[in-house]
Amino acid sequence: MRNIVVLTGAGISAESGIDTFRDGGGLWERHRVEDVATPEAFARDPELVQRFYDMRRAAVQTKQPNAAHHALARLEAEWRGELLIVTQNVDDLHERAGASRVLHMHGTHLNAWCTACDARHRWTGTLIDKPPCPDCGEASLRPDVVWFGEMPYEMERIYAALRGADLFVAIGTSGAVYPAAGFVQDASQLGARTLELNLARSQGSHWFDESRQGPATQLVPQWVEEMLAG
Ligand SMILES: [Zn+2]
Repeated sequence: MRNIVVLTGAGISAESGIDTFRDGGGLWERHRVEDVATPEAFARDPELVQRFYDMRRAAVQTKQPNAAHHALARLEAEWRGELLIVTQNVDDLHERAGASRVLHMHGTHLNAWCTACDARHRWTGTLIDKPPCPDCGEASLRPDVVWFGEMPYEMERIYAALRGADLFVAIGTSGAVYPAAGFVQDASQLGARTLELNLARSQGSHWFDESRQGPATQLVPQWVEEMLAG
């Protein structure tokens, strides 16, 4: 076993105190979260959407990576084969734990994307005040986050990694959001062993060869220990 693809979801960051969309009943200031996280919402009320993301960008920066993020960074450093961490999360906790082979399929809170010149810039401040793009000067920056109805990033690179994978591991994902929910079936059909590490059995549990239940901060360090001992 050499090549590993790890998919991480909200469950790995929940123990660092990062809210999921479903927390608080899925409502934000009486808006359904889905309704502030769409291109249509941004076209209709950009200030509302920027305020929502400004708050989330600020909140993420107050959180710290946990034992699960650190264990994956250790695996990346010590594993002799290929490893790709595909994350559905828009926080930067994998990177702050020391991982570098991280693909953010849903974008990241810590970037701003200029819709005028297509540049992406690391961004820690606010966007509601319409700052100019550092490259082109236009006030056309939006969160570099994939909204409902938009195409996830780098799908070709993800499928290429799945084709070469010997092991696919899903950590803290609901198994409800496609296309990520389908990765286990793709990996399995392509011959990879599949493992789920999740707080509870997910909607997609039956697709995995093995499913372990418990907090990511316990399961992930245990699993990394097994892999590196193996
Ligand atoms: Zn620009």
